[in-house]
Amino acid sequence: MSNRKTAIVSVYDKTGLLDLAKGLIKNGVRILASGGTAKMIRESGFDVEDVSAITHAPEMLAGRVKTLHPAVHAGILARNLAADEKDLAEQNINKVDYVICNLYPFKDTIAKINVTIPEAVEEIDIGGVTLIRAAAKNHTRVTILSDPNDYPEFLEELEKGEITERSRNTYALKAFEHTADYDAAIADFFRKQYAGDGTQQIALRYGANPHQKPAAAYVKGGKIPFKVLGGSPGYINLLDALNAWPLVKELKTALGHPAAASFKHVSPAGAAVGVPLTADERKVYFVDDIEGLENSPLAQAYARARGADRMSSFGDMIALSDVVDVPTAKIISREVSDGVIAPGYEDAALEILKKKKGGKYLVLQMDPDYQPSPQEIRTVYGIKLTQGRNNVQISPKTFTSIITPKDSAPLSESALRDLTVATIALKYTQSNSVCYAFNGQVVGLGAGQQSRIHCTRLAGDKTDNWWLRFSPKVLDIKWKKGTKRADKSNAIDLLVSGELPKDGPEREGYEAFFEEVPVSFTEQEREQWLSKLSEVVVSSDAFFPFIDNVYRAGRSGVKYMAAPTGSQNDQFVFDTAEKLGITFVEQSIRLFHH
Ligand code: 5GP
Repeated sequence: MSNRKTAIVSVYDKTGLLDLAKGLIKNGVRILASGGTAKMIRESGFDVEDVSAITHAPEMLAGRVKTLHPAVHAGILARNLAADEKDLAEQNINKVDYVICNLYPFKDTIAKINVTIPEAVEEIDIGGVTLIRAAAKNHTRVTILSDPNDYPEFLEELEKGEITERSRNTYALKAFEHTADYDAAIADFFRKQYAGDGTQQIALRYGANPHQKPAAAYVKGGKIPFKVLGGSPGYINLLDALNAWPLVKELKTALGHPAAASFKHVSPAGAAVGVPLTADERKVYFVDDIEGLENSPLAQAYARARGADRMSSFGDMIALSDVVDVPTAKIISREVSDGVIAPGYEDAALEILKKKKGGKYLVLQMDPDYQPSPQEIRTVYGIKLTQGRNNVQISPKTFTSIITPKDSAPLSESALRDLTVATIALKYTQSNSVCYAFNGQVVGLGAGQQSRIHCTRLAGDKTDNWWLRFSPKVLDIKWKKGTKRADKSNAIDLLVSGELPKDGPEREGYEAFFEEVPVSFTEQEREQWLSKLSEVVVSSDAFFPFIDNVYRAGRSGVKYMAAPTGSQNDQFVFDTAEKLGITFVEQSIRLFHH
């Protein structure tokens, strides 16, 4: 057996090849190369042998088989073990020390417009991947170079006598990443070709904005767990749907009632479980004429989810925990909405939804048994971020650790229900977030604020607006005939928020909606009405750092408060809650969501 070191060189990208060959020869390395690679080296006057010098077999099948041979792969894979040496000696095979290989340009080929499957297939490198994998596997002995940028450093080390372990490790890692990336590109291509009908991949028109193309949703292996029954989903629709669905699924599991959520920009505008509605609630939520509402807990849940903050829900993505019935479909059919995700649809309900938006309304059917991977991965600015999924389960049992008052009896069923609703909603709300709930539904949610008090205020103000909508001044509004539902919601929001335009065309536009223009709330009227609100719960996705949050919550009828602890101000927060007659429950798990 020769002591001369051997390199196998087989490169598609021939950048730096001649400098490499020169360096190898200078250091006495024997070069064996595949067809095109050998030709280029030879034509430049360097000493090179064809791989067939050791395989004693010609390149075959128009290049499909070039280096695939035991003489090559046993030479690469052999360890410095007596048994391996014996095997090599019996077959008269020499060890290979260096493998220099990069692959056919599969990515460039498939990037071409109208590429055919046979064209793509021919660009699937077989022998090269095998060379790279074999050498990388045996990197304790063999050096694998898969990137021409590494040639100069490699030659510098070779010049000094040997390739260091550190370099071999780094090159091996790069090689594994190279083949993994290559195989991923092949799988991506065939996923589009053979499962791009929605089975494993759905093409999206664009990403978050129209200029963000191309865009797609896909799963690696298995099937996409939802079917598109109507319309075509957008990127943000799916972000909403895939947050809203687990929210309603978890609410249903935790409380045993059908649940609904109304999402906008990846946070809930409303979420609720099916609790029967009072006559006033039906009116305030614009569902007083929905037939069958009293017998459909799912429709009740959606009426509440949609009714909480009608302005924010305009154009929502809806999630429903149960098979959609006609009353629920009827509520949806007359609201401005982008789409719905649910585990199923009664035929008549589907008919109603399919007519919406001129047949373009997005209807997704979710597999209720789908379990996502416990590990999540995303890319931000080119960097992969990975984390375990937030699979903590919130239920009424979560709220048993009462901090103040010390002698508190266990919480009532309704308080436990509402704390569960608020906290599960937070789990799927962009942080920071604070949620107020009442009667089985979210009544005010502050999402995505950098400061906690801003969340508490935003959610508190929304709660106040929601409650003011139940005041006689709003309930008795006389609308001009033909006023649209969205215009009514907007006008009511101006009235209850105190943001009424004073004069000019905006004021005229506002007044045009009414038969009789309602008189604005006085400060005193507002306070009087708000003081009637009580038994509201509030939950926070992380601890309250200052007592201002407690005071603000207290002004919106809050009686129960749940949050993680851990602030330096915990004791002051507890004391303030106690002073205001608020029960403070420790909810021990932080629930940031982004
Ligand atoms: P060359 O230009 O030397 O003829 O070919 C170099 C290319 O062939 C490299 O990209 C290498 O990955 C690839 N290659 C090496 N051995 C084989 C083989 O046995 N089969 C196939 N399909 N490709 C190979």
